[in-house]
Amino acid sequence: MIVERIWINNRLRNYNYLIACPQTGEAMALDPLAHQLCLQRAQLRGWEITSILNTHEHPDHTAGNVPLMSMTGAPVLAHHGAQGKIPGMSHALRAGDSVRVGTSVVLKVLDTPGHTRTHVCLLWETETPALFCGDTLFNAGVGNCHNGGHPEALYQTFSTQLACLDESTQVYPGHDYMVNNLEFTLDREPSNQAAAALLERVRDLDPTELPITTLGMEKQINTFFRLSQPEVIERLRDQTPGLAEDPSEEAVFLRLRQLRNDW
Ligand SMILES: [Zn+2]
Repeated sequence: MIVERIWINNRLRNYNYLIACPQTGEAMALDPLAHQLCLQRAQLRGWEITSILNTHEHPDHTAGNVPLMSMTGAPVLAHHGAQGKIPGMSHALRAGDSVRVGTSVVLKVLDTPGHTRTHVCLLWETETPALFCGDTLFNAGVGNCHNGGHPEALYQTFSTQLACLDESTQVYPGHDYMVNNLEFTLDREPSNQAAAALLERVRDLDPTELPITTLGMEKQINTFFRLSQPEVIERLRDQTPGLAEDPSEEAVFLRLRQLRNDW
C-alpha cells in the first residue's frame, strides 16, 4: 500500500488521501474534496483512480465526488446508512466488509459512529497497520459531534474499537488540528511531557510536513485516550461540580468533549 496524504490548504484544514496498490497502480481517493488536486497527484504518480470512498456524509468530505466520478468513472463507496446523503454513492459499506484496491491492498471497514451516525474508518490489517479515521480520531484529539453526531456513541467507538487496535497502527485523520489539540491536551494535563515535546516539534511545521502518529503515540498525547490519568481527573473536577469521586472513563470523555467545544 502506498499512501499519498494531500493537504488541500482550505479553512477546515482537510487532508485528502490516495491509497494505491503498488502492483497495479490502481488508487482509491478517500474524501477527495480537492478532486482536481487528487487527480493531478494520481497522474503525477502514474496511478489510476478506480474508487472513491467517503468516511462520512459531511460536504467537506463528499463535495468532490461527482466531478471526480465524471472524470474517472470510479464508483463511490460509503456507510450504508448514508445513502441519500452522499452525492454519487453507489456502494453501501457495512462493518467487517473488505474494500480492495488493486490486487494487493485490502482495507477492513469499521463502523464508527460518533462524529456522525454513519461514519466508517478503514483499517489496513498488516504487520504495519494503518487506520484512515476521517473525523473520528484526529492527531491528539477527536471529532466534534455538532452536525449529526453523538458524544456517547463517539465514546463507545473509542473504547470498544479504536483503543483495542494495535499500538503500531498509523493514524491518518481527515483534518489537521494537531497544534490546537496538543494545546488542549496540555491544558488538561500540564505535566504531559510527550505532548509538550511533540508540540515543540510541530508548532511551526507546514501541514504537509507533520508527522504521522501511531495509536501508541496517541495514547500518550491525546487527552481523550487518557481518561484515568489522575491529573486529567483532578483538573476536570475544578470545572465540573458534582463529578463523582472516582468518575467513569465515559464521564471523563464526555466532559472533555464538552470542554473542547468551547476551546
Ligand atoms: Zn465531518
